[in-house]
Amino acid sequence: MTTNVMTEKENEKCKLKDQVAIITGSGRGIGRSIAEALLRAGAKVVISDINEETCNKTAQELKEHGGETLGLVCDVTKSASVEALVEQVVKEWGRIDILVNNAGITRDNLMMRMSEDEWQAVIDTNLTSAFKVSKPILKVMSKQRSGRIINIASTTGVHGNFGQVNYAAAKAGLIGFTKTIAIEYASRNITCNAIAPGFIDTDMTRKLSEEIIKGILDKVPLKRMGTPDDIANAVLFFAGPAAYVTGQVLEVNGGLYT
Ligand code: NAP
Repeated sequence: MTTNVMTEKENEKCKLKDQVAIITGSGRGIGRSIAEALLRAGAKVVISDINEETCNKTAQELKEHGGETLGLVCDVTKSASVEALVEQVVKEWGRIDILVNNAGITRDNLMMRMSEDEWQAVIDTNLTSAFKVSKPILKVMSKQRSGRIINIASTTGVHGNFGQVNYAAAKAGLIGFTKTIAIEYASRNITCNAIAPGFIDTDMTRKLSEEIIKGILDKVPLKRMGTPDDIANAVLFFAGPAAYVTGQVLEVNGGLYT
């Protein structure tokens, strides 16, 4: 007897089959986990990062697990670099279905001590980058009459955080950007949503002292740091089943709303 029931593996692969996804800053950390999850769901994935070594290594490693990847170096703060990325992806794969604006940095300091350089670097990398990367990709998505943009913001952008005035301003700006793109591009069947991670275990948070980490963990109701996969799962929702969801901010934070 024949059956049409797909195996769990086949089913997972079909969800985003042949869709093209670009994830900025995906050489390591949360971006890498997002790339892995989208690849497992059947998408063709562009690993893009400012760091040539991790970019190419990650693209190669993920390809070895099966699926199609492309490693393309891109500095999201440089318009020429972004334009070259978009041009190359369209040349190789002909379309762009999913964009995850993930690249980000921190330069923490108290407001009274923060330099203009610390302020500007964080605004450029975490906010202006989303404008630079999304603009040419929205053009491609508009022609296709479909697309999903997912911006990786932060709970700091929703609630503020001590020592992160630059980061909070950038991530709050990214949330405003998300809501406005959602309104402007809905008529073209393009959705735009944001994920606001809480405290996630990556190199970014490993820089913090043990004392700070313990202080934060004491306040997290779920009593653990989030993992990059926790964020990747939220991206899968916005990239896949969430066709009627746009302009939303999903906090993935273990219940810590401060
Ligand atoms: P991460 O481990 O520091 O990784 C960030 C990646 O972005 C690195 O590969 C980095 O390259 C790359 N990058 C930095 N500047 C770039 C640029 N100008 N152009 C392209 N790529 C660039 O950080 P993460 O923890 O995975 O964070 C990913 C995103 O989640 C960020 O937007 C961050 O703000 C957000 N987030 C993280 C947390 C958390 O707790 N970890 C919480 C809330 C939000 P290099 O290897 O050269 O540094």
